[in-house]
Amino acid sequence: MTDTSPAARALLVAFDETQLAEMHAAASARMKRVRALHRQEYDACDWCSTNDRHVPYPCPTIRALDGEEPS
Ligand SMILES: [Zn+2]
Repeated sequence: MTDTSPAARALLVAFDETQLAEMHAAASARMKRVRALHRQEYDACDWCSTNDRHVPYPCPTIRALDGEEPS
């Protein structure tokens, strides 16, 4: 048995699967919107690149979404 405070325990008890599913859906929708901005255009990120700056795809934002730690 893990040692949790009464407040933490109450929070866990009140936390139901519907809330978890809603949080997951909201997070997925956010990530989808970010990916829609940072889309691949040839070999570059369309959002990060400008006329003066070429940012190869996947850009740091997409790599972070994919789980890579920022360097
Ligand atoms: Zn980008």
